[in-house]
Formats: sequence, C-alpha cells, structure tokens
Amino acid sequence: MPRYDYDLFVIGGGSGGVRAARLSAALGKRVAIAEEYRYGGTCVIRGCVPKKLFVYASQFPEHFADAAGYGWTVPETSFDWPTLIANKDKEIGRLSGLYQSGVEKAGGETLHSRATLIDGHTVLIENENRTVTAEHILIATGGRPNPHAALPGHEHCIFSNEAFDLPSLPKSIVIAGGGYIAVEFANIFHGLGVDTTLIYRGKEILQRFDMDLRHRLHEEMAAKGIRILCHTIFENIDRRDDGRLAATLNSGHVLFADQILLAIGRIPNTENLGLEAAGVKTGVRGEILVDAHSRTNVGNIWAIGDVTDRVQLTPVAIHEAMCFVETAFKGNPTAPDHNCIATAVFSQPEIGTVGLSEDEASKRFANLEVYSASFRPLRYILAGRQERMLTKLVVDAGTRRVIGAHILGPDAGELAQLLGIVLKAGLTKDDFDRTMAVHPTAAEELVTMYKPTYLVKDGARQDC
Ligand code: NDP
Repeated sequence: MPRYDYDLFVIGGGSGGVRAARLSAALGKRVAIAEEYRYGGTCVIRGCVPKKLFVYASQFPEHFADAAGYGWTVPETSFDWPTLIANKDKEIGRLSGLYQSGVEKAGGETLHSRATLIDGHTVLIENENRTVTAEHILIATGGRPNPHAALPGHEHCIFSNEAFDLPSLPKSIVIAGGGYIAVEFANIFHGLGVDTTLIYRGKEILQRFDMDLRHRLHEEMAAKGIRILCHTIFENIDRRDDGRLAATLNSGHVLFADQILLAIGRIPNTENLGLEAAGVKTGVRGEILVDAHSRTNVGNIWAIGDVTDRVQLTPVAIHEAMCFVETAFKGNPTAPDHNCIATAVFSQPEIGTVGLSEDEASKRFANLEVYSASFRPLRYILAGRQERMLTKLVVDAGTRRVIGAHILGPDAGELAQLLGIVLKAGLTKDDFDRTMAVHPTAAEELVTMYKPTYLVKDGARQDC
C-alpha cells in the first residue's frame, strides 16, 4: 500500500501547474491537479492569449489605412465588440479543454475545486468536502491584479480580467500603470476606437526597458492619439449620476471616462491556501518563498510560477515546472535559469528585448559599444506611414559580447525570441558581423550595423 493517495498533488491549473502535472503523470506518477475556475490559468483565460487576439483585432484600422497605398480601396468598415468576445471565448474554451485533456491523457486526474492545505501532506478538496494525501504538493496558484485598495473609489475600476469581457466597448477609458498590461491595453483600446488616456506615476513608461525604446514608444503612441500623462496618479475616483467615472488626478485635473482600468502590477494568490497550517513561509508581498529548485521551507511542498513572484511570465512558469519534474521525480536536480529572458510588450509598435538595457549595462561594464539604427520599414513606405523601427545592440567592448538587444517595430516579439538564443549562447558582435543578411527584411539591420553609433565609457556617452 502506498503511504499517500498521490505522488503529486498540484494546486492550480495554469500553465505551470498543468505542465508539471502532465509531465509527472507521463512518468507514471500518480498525479491529481485541482483548479477552482477554468484550466488554462491567467495566460489562457485572461492574459496572454486573449490579449494577443485583442491586439490583432485592434491593428486592423491601420492595416485598412495602409492598404490604400498599395492600390486597394477598402469599403467602409465597422467593428463589432460582441463578435470579438464570442470568438475569443470560443478559442480560449478550446485551449482550456486541451490543457485539461493533456493531463488526463497522460494519466493524471483533474479536479474542479478549490484545494487548500490541511497540513504538509494533506489537501482539502473543498467542492467535494474530502481530504486526500500526497507525497509531494506543488503550489501553482498564480497571481491576480493589485486592487489598489488605498485608492478612494477603487471599487469603480476594472482590471485586466474584466477588460476581456466588458459587455460593451467603452467610448473612453483611462488606464493607470506604466507596465506591460497598461501599455498593451492602451494600444488595444485606442486601436478599437476608444478615446484612451494612460497615466503613469514615473517619468517614462515601461521602467525596466531600454530608455530609447521607452521614449520612442511613448512618442509613437502619442502620435497615434493616445494621451499619456507621466508623473501622474489618481487621488480618487467617483461615479457620477450619469454613470460615467470622474478621476481626480494629483495635478488637480479631473478626467471623465466610461471605464477606468487599473494595471499596477499583480500580487501572488496565497490567501486562505492553508500555508500557515502546512508551515509554508511567505515573503513581504505574500509570495511563497522557494529555494533555487522551487522547494519551499517544507521539504515536500514546492511552488512555481507567479505565486513565487520571481519572474511573472508564462514561459518562466513552464520552465520552472519542467525543472521541478527533473528535480522531484527524475533524480536530476535542476534549478530554473532566470538569466537573460527574452520578452515582448505587445504594444503598437511592438517591443522585443533581451539582455541588458544600455543603462543597466553601463552600471556593470566599463566600456560599451552601442549600435543603433532607426528606419522606416519597407512595408510602410507605400502606405505612407511615418512610424519608424528601432534596432539597438549593446556590446561589452572588452569581450565583444552582445549583452543587450532591443527592438521596437513590427514583429519585434518574434525577433526577440531568436535574439534570445543568440544572447543566451553568448555570441559576439563579430558573430553578428559575419552573419549574412536576409534581404529585404527589417531584421537585416541587426547584422549590418557595422560601426558603433556611440561608446559608453564609465557610464558617460562618447562619440566614436
Ligand atoms: P508591471 O510590473 O509590468 O507594471 C506595473 C506598473 O504599475 C508599473 O508601471 C508601476 O510603476 C505601476 N505601479 C505600481 N504600483 C503603483 C501604484 N501604487 N500606483 C500607481 N502605479 C503603480 O505589471 P503589470 O500589471 O503591467 O503586469 C504584471 C505582470 O504580468 C508583468 O510583470 C509581466 O511580467 C506580466 N505580463 C507580461 C506580458 C507580456 O509578456 N507581454 C503582458 C502582460 C503582463 P513603476 O514603474 O514606477 O514601478
């Protein structure tokens, strides 16, 4: 008789939890996974996937406008929000089903319930009011939007979750935040024809990105008609008698809008999980504390993904899940590698980036070479679109290694994926230089920037 009901019990059916459950079950382990809402988690149900579908939807007006330069006459267009929502729901329903069936086909058991810890080996399946035991427990409960409880009137605001299912498209929206979600949704709503204002507390949006991209994206978004107010926060939010919202800013100005979206970061889902009962330690933001192998302070309890608040990205959670399986079940202790993660912001224009920004690099390296090019992509010429693309490489002059690659423009996310391999491999600028260009592409700029644009010595910019 095995000592426990399961070898592994996973709490949370998002990208990380499902991957861990599926791989462990495929190894022949006795696995159960519990999800209280829908399988797929934030990424599939109310994050990356529906967001990207909305991005595509919001880009059509520019495609229609560009078509004229290529000889096309586009008849009068119209947009139907309920159609987009219904089609999006169909697709996420399909993906959610695949997530669940993937675990089941591998031999795992899927449960539809909230699950909480009773002790280090016992889990309560709340919907069924029964407990089960497991040798290993993996917590992958993700995160949720920061509700900004300190803001008077925050209850009138929506978050990214609600933005995916609004009953109607607002005529106007104010979005607070300067990170991924705020910037992406500002572009989505603007593209769909919504009067959009973005307010950000800092000096420039997208704090952790390269300054050139931040400035240029700000300019391009403003040129499209998105109002961006930096050094700005809400003082309070009121709902008026006509149903519209009034947001009072720190400047004293009042903005009126149909919806106000708060996108000021996400917090780990650790409340009422029974962590105290099991003795699992959390950090100041409520995140579950783990070691390099995603193990908590309780030896058989592990945590991966956003609930650990290491790097809040889907592919990172999936990578952590695969490392967990190696460590817990394959006798091959593997620590997730969080270094040099490529990422994209699906803004319009898009950002794709990997490695160090110029500012970060200049703090760590005494001598930098910076290569940058700004140009109009060929596709925009006949269209008459003035938007420019930016490519930038940051090189450690000492070793010639490319330590940062930054792109603003069409398909930047796709390019970042490939640059991620290049930077991970530690390739040098000389490797770029001896790589033949693919012509005519925008990406060829990355291998044809032969001369540095400028140098950075001990943090100070110098001409070549
Ligand atoms: P981010 O951490 O990206 O940005 C949070 C923003 O909110 C920052 O601009 C921050 O300002 C601001 N902020 C924080 N607290 C306050 C406050 N009290 N008042 C006003 N502004 C505040 O979080 P998001 O919510 O945008 O996204 C959450 C996570 O989801 C991201 O970290 C990202 O990893 C992931 N994500 C990834 C996407 C992708 O890969 N394309 C897309 C969407 C989300 P400051 O800069 O000054 O700290």
